[in-house]
Amino acid sequence: MVMNNKESTVAALLKSKHTGSLVSNSVRNKMEISHANLSPIKPYMQEEDVEYQQHEQHQVAVLHENMYLHLGNFRMERALEEWSNIFSPDQICTDPNMLKTLLQDCSAMEQVNQVRAVIYPTDKEQIVKLVKISNKFKIPIYPVSTGNNWGYGSMNPPPQHDVSTNSVREGIILNMSRMTEIKFDIKSGVVTVQPGVTQRLLNQYLKDNNLSYLIPVTGGGPDTSLLGNALERGYGITPHADHFSACMSLEAILPNGEVYNSMLHQMGAPQIDKLYKWGTGPYVCGIFTQGNFGIVTEMSIALATRPERVEAFFFAVDELDVGVQKVKEILTKIGNVTGSINLMNNRRMISMTLPYPKEKIGKDQVIPDEMLSNMQKSIGVSNWNGAGTIYGSEQVVKAAKKEIKKILKQSTRKIIFLNPKETSTYCSILDKVSFVQNIPIVKALYAVNESLKLMNGEPSQVALPLAYWKAGKKPTEKPMNPSQDGCGLLWFAPLVPLHPENVQEFVELAQRVCIKHGIEPLITLTSMNDRACDSTIPILFDRSDPEQVKKAHQCFDELFEEGSKLGYVPYRLNVNAMRKVSDRKAVPSILKSLKTAIDPNNIIAPGRYGL
Ligand SMILES: Cc1cc2nc3c(=O)[nH]c(=O)nc-3n(C[C@H](O)[C@H](O)[C@H](O)COP(=O)(O)OP(=O)(O)OC[C@H]3O[C@@H](n4cnc5c(N)ncnc54)[C@H](O)[C@@H]3O)c2cc1C
Repeated sequence: MVMNNKESTVAALLKSKHTGSLVSNSVRNKMEISHANLSPIKPYMQEEDVEYQQHEQHQVAVLHENMYLHLGNFRMERALEEWSNIFSPDQICTDPNMLKTLLQDCSAMEQVNQVRAVIYPTDKEQIVKLVKISNKFKIPIYPVSTGNNWGYGSMNPPPQHDVSTNSVREGIILNMSRMTEIKFDIKSGVVTVQPGVTQRLLNQYLKDNNLSYLIPVTGGGPDTSLLGNALERGYGITPHADHFSACMSLEAILPNGEVYNSMLHQMGAPQIDKLYKWGTGPYVCGIFTQGNFGIVTEMSIALATRPERVEAFFFAVDELDVGVQKVKEILTKIGNVTGSINLMNNRRMISMTLPYPKEKIGKDQVIPDEMLSNMQKSIGVSNWNGAGTIYGSEQVVKAAKKEIKKILKQSTRKIIFLNPKETSTYCSILDKVSFVQNIPIVKALYAVNESLKLMNGEPSQVALPLAYWKAGKKPTEKPMNPSQDGCGLLWFAPLVPLHPENVQEFVELAQRVCIKHGIEPLITLTSMNDRACDSTIPILFDRSDPEQVKKAHQCFDELFEEGSKLGYVPYRLNVNAMRKVSDRKAVPSILKSLKTAIDPNNIIAPGRYGL
């Protein structure tokens, strides 16, 4: 019998048993067993015999699959052995039950069989050594900072099922949450952080050192990473709302273990490199965001100085196009003193204020119109509700308020201005009066106070309960963690031109598709500038109900497909959706060439954003 390449490779490997080289005993035994499991090949068959050909193809596929798996196992065992010389036992988790828990995800689609270990480095040198070993054994590394990428996959890698071998390529997660160094350049307000620095840690550092800056907060809350969020190009609502635009420079470890620093840095100017984003020569840092070209070990972020006055403004409109027009006008006229502005629909406001009326509606339904209108009235919100913040000196804020009033006066139902400090003072006074605690208006004031903290650049968990609206159990003793607490959530977050007709078209599409799948269309539109906004739609579902899980994913897929047809594509993707980029052949060839050149063994986060 003539063997093809794959069969002869396996045979050669088995033969090496006699020479005692290459394959360890355990691997060899497994290979022999699986080889023996193959059904015997028929002694003689005509070439044109279709049955024979199918039989042979099957044999080859099984051999290929076994060979692939066993070589993968062999390499992984060797790599784990070598890593154990660098990391102490408490830095490597390989326990299958622990891994299962760590990988729990709001999507209910965990990639447990793709992850053999989670490794927790404590310094850069350990990562350099780890990468070199990974490269030697061709083991994928999926780097995360704190791994709290809730609604986008948390700590999970993009699924990597190889159809031709019917196998997955096992890898490891590199969790850098234990790297928490903070360096602060007081003269420039630039902070240099390692991946494990969270909003909470930076907040504490600033307080301890009496430094007056705003934290680049997000709805993800105090325990998410500043660096991880900026690398995903996440955004918030403070003056530096687009978090990667505030990244001045970064340091990364490349797949061959080399350390990347910018050209400016290498020309002997590391100080200015941290103060001026673009540096000299081609701009490279961008490829480390939403990419898989290296492991970022340090990032310098420009913080916004805490201004003399912060004033939040809220307004309500009945018509979406009016709201969009007004947001655009505010941003065009005084966008340099406002953070991003949010427009939220009535359902989204209800989700922040009232419990989900689970008992009153069917499993596959959304809140019916009449009930919706009653709920809306009970909390006094409109069809569309705006929120923004002004940052500046007393004089600047005063002038901006005047301008905002002028813009909003004619077409909005109400305009409210609130100062976080003053609201917080009211709340501390009310804290002392126990009998008012259950009065709805007082409760509402407490809720507003928490939201104002975010606008004031203070980390808060205020946005996280959204993830628990339909399912999940909020912990009382520890911080919220939607993935670990059983919440079902997928974010659909497309970019939309900030023009009334586009926003209207997108919102109609989102409502139609969500309602079709029994998903509440909770819509927020956040301005990125006066030209574009990003819509975040949390697809909420009960993760313990397989039917709802299926519907939620179908809803995401349809939103993605239909949205793409109209040009509304997400700014950021869930790991389960990343394949859509390569399926559509949308990865630019320059990125493919770069990836092959920089990472020939494809070890850094294969599959991320289709690469
Ligand atoms: C209710 C709710 C509200 C939310 N609100 C917001 C919001 O307002 N804005 C927002 O942006 N997000 C929001 N999120 C989403 C998410 O939780 C945050 O973006 C969070 O900051 C991401 O997790 P992380 O910081 O732990 O980053 P990680 O999970 O550590 O990192 C994210 C990804 O970046 C890559 N990466 C991370 N670190 C490195 C590294 N060192 N080197 C190379 N690659 C790396 C990895 O691919 C990783 O998967 C929200 C989530 C929920 C549930």
